[in-house]
Amino acid sequence: MGPNASPPRRRGGAGVLIILLASAVVGAGIRAFTSDADSQSSSINPHTFTPFTLVSREPVSSTSSIFTFAHRGNPDAIGALRDAWKRGVWSIQIKQPQLQIARAYTPLPPLADPSDAELGAIRLLIRKENKGEVSGYLHRLPLEALVELRGPSLEYELPNDVKEILFLAGGTGIAPALQITHALQDKARIHVMWATRRREDCRGGSSDTRQAPKVGMLAGWKGLLGQEQADLSNAQEGNHEQNAIVRQLQSAKERSKRIPGCELSVDYFVDEEGSLITPQSVLQHTQSSKSPDSSTTQGRKLILVSGPEGFVNYWAGPKRWEGGREAQGPLGGVLSRLRLEGWEVWKL
Ligand SMILES: Cc1cc2nc3c(=O)[nH]c(=O)nc-3n(C[C@H](O)[C@H](O)[C@H](O)COP(=O)(O)OP(=O)(O)OC[C@H]3O[C@@H](n4cnc5c(N)ncnc54)[C@H](O)[C@@H]3O)c2cc1C
Repeated sequence: MGPNASPPRRRGGAGVLIILLASAVVGAGIRAFTSDADSQSSSINPHTFTPFTLVSREPVSSTSSIFTFAHRGNPDAIGALRDAWKRGVWSIQIKQPQLQIARAYTPLPPLADPSDAELGAIRLLIRKENKGEVSGYLHRLPLEALVELRGPSLEYELPNDVKEILFLAGGTGIAPALQITHALQDKARIHVMWATRRREDCRGGSSDTRQAPKVGMLAGWKGLLGQEQADLSNAQEGNHEQNAIVRQLQSAKERSKRIPGCELSVDYFVDEEGSLITPQSVLQHTQSSKSPDSSTTQGRKLILVSGPEGFVNYWAGPKRWEGGREAQGPLGGVLSRLRLEGWEVWKL
């Protein structure tokens, strides 16, 4: 199975939290689980669920949207997240009240120029899974609906001596990549390889180091492959207005240019266009990234892999349950067969 033909669920096993009804039955007898028993707090915290309002839902593609949640009563309800933004990759959980289940989602960093609705709010890129319980519930919610959130939950703490990152992202795995670029914006050089199923997921994105198909080649395909391929070709790199995720990547890139040695670059790979991240593209990057001052600069080089379970397994092998916790497990997959001297791999 290729890296992009992988199952839709990202780290699904770990994302499923069964919330026992019993936990809602406290002292005063049986109370409605969805209303107050678990939602006493007016600030987000890792232990209890706090109600937030869905203030906007911006479609990014036909299958995913950016959801913005704010707390109506307490403008500093997400103050507890400030520290998390500096530490690495983290998530929050959202509860589906009817089924008493929760799933993890990865907040997108604040925008450089937020709108009023986005100030002090939590933004999430959520893909609607086919028959997915929580993602389906969220995509059906009307604006102004109350949703219960809990967190943060730290998934990966960045070492403080990291100098260089290669981030392999599949689908919504771009959200942790954005968190990393935010946490390390003036500390490390970052290259993101983002694989998506469709061009619409990364509409308007154009690669920094990968060569886009030449116009002449595309014209040839039109003749050979008909209208459908012609439409795809027209939607190729950079030809369309950027979607919100590409815009956020672009603005992180612009910001990074001001800090020498900490540049962010992004390459886009699109399943339906037949472009895949290949072992060669990874090797090309790891081998060419030796900066002129690498002999004098101490610092770690990391490959982070994030995306649907099949994507992570393909590149780095499966994670493993150890002592009731999800652990890294041995390095497997394609990366285990490449000569990655000096690079450490971490599965997200
Ligand atoms: C740390 C972490 C961070 C995450 N961050 C994000 C994020 O930022 N954005 C995001 O979109 N997702 C993220 N996820 C994934 C998210 O938590 C959910 O797993 C995802 O939204 C699917 O949940 P669901 O309840 O909608 O789907 P589920 O109901 O869990 O179903 C998932 C898939 O399995 C299929 N399925 C379910 N039951 C069966 C069955 N019995 N037989 C066969 N197939 C079945 C469904 O059709 C569906 O395609 C993250 C996961 C983790 C662990």
